[in-house]
Amino acid sequence: MSTHHNPTDAAYTGLARLRDDYRLLTEADGHIRRTPGLPTPERLAAAGRAHLTDRAETLGLLSRGLKPLGASPAPGVDLVRVDILTDVALALGELEEAVIERVAPTLATTDTAARRIGTIIKLLPKVGAVDDLLAHVRAETRRLHNRVRYGLGETEEVRTLAARCPICGARSLRELTGRDLVTCVNIACRCDDDLCGCRDETPTRHQWAGADWRTPGMEMTA
Ligand SMILES: [Zn+2]
Ligand SMILES: [Zn+2]
Repeated sequence: MSTHHNPTDAAYTGLARLRDDYRLLTEADGHIRRTPGLPTPERLAAAGRAHLTDRAETLGLLSRGLKPLGASPAPGVDLVRVDILTDVALALGELEEAVIERVAPTLATTDTAARRIGTIIKLLPKVGAVDDLLAHVRAETRRLHNRVRYGLGETEEVRTLAARCPICGARSLRELTGRDLVTCVNIACRCDDDLCGCRDETPTRHQWAGADWRTPGMEMTA
């Protein structure tokens, strides 16, 4: 299963990995080291050279402006983990529904993340015959797996979006996949709103929910 000659096999592998890691996150007991703030040089090095510049730029800006979602959880309660488990289970419910609607309208929906993944895997042979549906399943699987991996404390993936920033027009949009967040990393990006934090001495960055950028056909580059 290391190489894939067809996208249906790749979708299967992606879903199986998502299922395994979701289970791991369910069983995690609050000792996850997840550092959304300033990374150490070791973490940056471990993140791989390809993303280094991008990552340093983004995380540098984050440290000056962006507030990480889910900051300051109560002691002993990993709210980031809880949020991710909830979000991913909900998104899997929607994905299961979409798949059933398209290829197996008489099938009943299920009620847990693992069962929903099971349903989608079972229907993959049919899904594989519908190009746009298969692409949607693969994209969602990748997105949700990124969130789960972030929940498990793995280094967050930063992706460059092909679209331009709607405010400054630069190709400066980065998706922080683990947090489902898109941010403009152009330090000079300013909007017309006098009250916006982008005009502060230490400016906050403009950011959007990842969902705002998941319009059909929206292309991203790695
Ligand atoms: Zn911008
Ligand atoms: Zn602004």
